[in-house]
Amino acid sequence: MLKVAKFGGSSLAGAEQFRKVKQIIESDPARMCVVVSAAGKRHKKDSKITDLLYLTHAHINYGVSHEDIFSMIEQRYYGIRDELGLHYDLESEFEKLRGELNQDIPVDYLVSRGEYLTARLMSEYLGFGFIDAAECVFFNYDGQINYEKTYAAIAERAVHSPRFVMPGFYGVMPNGAIHVMTRGGSDITGAIVANALDADIYENWTDVSGILMADPRIVENPRPIPRITYAELREMAFMGASVLHEESILPVKEKGISLNIRNTNRPDEPGTFIVEHIESESELERPITGIAGRRNFTILTVLKRNMNASTTLCNALEILDRYHASVEHITLGLDSFALVVSSAALENTLYDVIADIQKTCRPDDVRVQDGIALVAAVGRKMPARPGTSGKLFQALGEHGLNIRTIAQGADELSIIVGVENCDFEKAIRVLYDGFTG
Ligand code: ASP
Repeated sequence: MLKVAKFGGSSLAGAEQFRKVKQIIESDPARMCVVVSAAGKRHKKDSKITDLLYLTHAHINYGVSHEDIFSMIEQRYYGIRDELGLHYDLESEFEKLRGELNQDIPVDYLVSRGEYLTARLMSEYLGFGFIDAAECVFFNYDGQINYEKTYAAIAERAVHSPRFVMPGFYGVMPNGAIHVMTRGGSDITGAIVANALDADIYENWTDVSGILMADPRIVENPRPIPRITYAELREMAFMGASVLHEESILPVKEKGISLNIRNTNRPDEPGTFIVEHIESESELERPITGIAGRRNFTILTVLKRNMNASTTLCNALEILDRYHASVEHITLGLDSFALVVSSAALENTLYDVIADIQKTCRPDDVRVQDGIALVAAVGRKMPARPGTSGKLFQALGEHGLNIRTIAQGADELSIIVGVENCDFEKAIRVLYDGFTG
């Protein structure tokens, strides 16, 4: 059994968190490979090391003193090292880095030092080897990961160092320059390591007990989701639930590796398992896996008597495509259709889009309604459970929530309703209570 354990910034924010990580790793010998983010926030008002490093670079660029910020970074690392009684030579690392802090320092290199130093300390603390991502995570010049080369290099390194810590978030370009991923990229590194080593489980340790059924800023203490499929997770993420870096799914999915989201502060809780298929469904499990949503959509309704729907719709879609406004949902009636588009995508182009639709489609009318929020109930069990949509609409109706549009994902994984922006939070709460109560 081999487990790859990735720890996010909040799990590494200070010495106390490092101790929890050590306990977690030592409690299961299968946890042989550890991927770390940079130290994150210790409390709400604290700063993430990655943010401080970006800030240091911005100060250097603008010719403003970076001394205060940079010494905050140093103090964080010295604090962790000294409190844990470690000996890693941070002094030399920082002396070298300080010598490089000038206009020429590449921002990616500077920012990557957050993960690098966190991994150095963790490797000493756990007594594990250190594998630098700069030696085995490879990017092509277009910024895409060269997966094959990367998998081979990690597998090769792990033969010599089967228990290791690796910094997440960065790798190397073909010319040897350090390149960072998009924010939250350590999730991807963890997934790559899991794939490269054919891990049984990829554990992603964070500060919540798994993926929650609804946004905790809207619903008080939402329940964690015990099991979710990759397809459901994609729907949830698309509808605004931020869980994992999207690109971290592919490497584990490809190999059928289960992904387990866990809470470093509550290691006894099982967290959420993300899997390709769920073989045996318990009848007791809820029909809805989770509820997510996003605000600020615009509904464009095109009305035209006796229209040839396919031509008119096709023309309207082409116009939106020309203005780079992607259509989230389409509903079709006999003499009308409605297109749901993110309002931000139409911010500067709405009147041009309408003018073009009028010119090309020759409709009887075009109606615009903005300020719409989309709320999705996501659940793999919905197709097999009659009455789910009835219950959903009933719950919304009973609470006086006016539904402006309805869509069902073609794969029947989600039912999406459009409500006024001002009803967004209420709709999420009503659906959550309706399906969990
Ligand atoms: N430290 C980086 C960030 O804050 C990468 C990561 O945490 O995964 O985005």
